[in-house]
Amino acid sequence: MDLDVRQRAMLEEMGLRIFDPRPDGRTDDTPPEPPRHSGGKPALAAGSMAPVAPVVPVVQSVALVPAVRPAGVESMDWAALEQAVAGCRACTLCEGRRNTVFGVGDPQADWLIVGEAPGENEDLQGEPFVGQAGKLLDNMLKSLGLARHHKVYIANVLKCRPPANRNPLPNEVAQCEPFLRRQVALLQPKIILAMGRFAVQSLLNTSEPIGKLRGRAHQYNGVPVVVTYHPAYLLRNLPDKAKAWADLCLARELLRDNAGTRP
Ligand code: SF4
Repeated sequence: MDLDVRQRAMLEEMGLRIFDPRPDGRTDDTPPEPPRHSGGKPALAAGSMAPVAPVVPVVQSVALVPAVRPAGVESMDWAALEQAVAGCRACTLCEGRRNTVFGVGDPQADWLIVGEAPGENEDLQGEPFVGQAGKLLDNMLKSLGLARHHKVYIANVLKCRPPANRNPLPNEVAQCEPFLRRQVALLQPKIILAMGRFAVQSLLNTSEPIGKLRGRAHQYNGVPVVVTYHPAYLLRNLPDKAKAWADLCLARELLRDNAGTRP
């Protein structure tokens, strides 16, 4: 249904949520983002309210493929986990992928960067954060004395590309989430940097906009999480680079505080 700004604000005030049927999937008051492309761009479900209740989730195209995710993900090692992802058919995204995008980086990394989902170039190359957004991420890491293969591991919430770079669906996130959870368990990073609204909302299980989550530490399975903007967003919103830099500095500070706690 079409909701105007005031109606959406009312819904948010009431704590009611629906999945946003708008084509761009925007669901909160953060700046609008164009369709995802190489490098990805987040977006998500929203809160809103209708003058006519009840609020009903929009029916998404759910699981046309039988859920087939290998058993025992929670006890797999890296090699088994990567192999499981490569053969996964637990959601319909398996039908259109050219490559799964497992992740890339240092298996002993202190930093885990989590993005949203593969875009076209990521799907082609099988690597997350390539293209212009990837270059910006590399520069951001370089400013901290890091690189994607040095003390850093990079992964997405989803391992397969959504068609036409549309936003991931809740069912897809639910099916894919065990892989990222296992990656975190194997990696035991000292800090997670969640980049973009979709990664943030998936990791933290919240619909709060990034602007309200930045500037403080969150937790994902015992690991500190810092929230920041996706590089693709920063490419279009240059003034927010200063905020992203502040987020990186916060993450570095938390990592130092957490340095002594890693086994
Ligand atoms: S997106 Fe995740 S759950 Fe869906 S098919 Fe790919 S690996 Fe499996």
